[in-house]
Amino acid sequence: MRDWPHYRQGFKAKLCQSGKLTVYGGVVFSRRTGTGRPGAGLAILGGTPYLTVMDDLASRISRCRLCADRFAATATAHRPRPVAWFAPGARVLIAGQAPGARVHASGVPFDDASGDRLRGWLGLEAEAFYDRSRVAIVPMAFCFPGYDAKGSDLPPPAICRQTWHDAVMADLSQVRLRVLVGAHAHRYHLGARGSVTQTVAGWRDHAPGVFALPHPSWRNTGWLKKNPWFEAQVLPALRAQVAKVMQDG
Ligand code: SF4
Repeated sequence: MRDWPHYRQGFKAKLCQSGKLTVYGGVVFSRRTGTGRPGAGLAILGGTPYLTVMDDLASRISRCRLCADRFAATATAHRPRPVAWFAPGARVLIAGQAPGARVHASGVPFDDASGDRLRGWLGLEAEAFYDRSRVAIVPMAFCFPGYDAKGSDLPPPAICRQTWHDAVMADLSQVRLRVLVGAHAHRYHLGARGSVTQTVAGWRDHAPGVFALPHPSWRNTGWLKKNPWFEAQVLPALRAQVAKVMQDG
């Protein structure tokens, strides 16, 4: 639970780990409608936007059920559980693929072995990694897609990108470093059409503002062994840039 003590005119706001924003003791104005109402949205404090509509967008995404029928038809027959982990002003974007089964259960992104490896790659402790005011975690689909017949994760449903992604990216205008995790994020953010290896190997074409990475899944341990240049060259440059942006931000 995070508190903003700087409220004026009777405002107070709390952002819970779940991403739910609660504003009380004042009126919250919607940028979309321009009307005031209690609840999540845009708070105007002394004429200055204080909490942006991003909180509202994350809340709307967390309520999305567009894929309910699709997920019900998978082997896991699960329900949508969007994990929307971002907030206004984030300087680092982690653009992932989609939550796995463990993240689906916990509601916390990268709350698994892949996350441990990714945090090691970034040089970030969990506290900084999960500070959504500094690090936005936006996968290509916000829900666990389920498994295919071989037990592998299904691809992120395209409808999620089509419905939400452009709006989220437009509001994350203060991002200075994009970390693209896996082929789906490479395609969306870079228009990459080659293999993951080709895209990652061309990292100097996009650094220091963008780093394309393989997925940190255990399934890619063999890839890491075959491509030692990734840990020797890419990761030191990535860590230096993450540290710089986090420090500046
Ligand atoms: S994957 Fe995206 S579009 Fe589908 S239910 Fe989840 S949030 Fe909605």
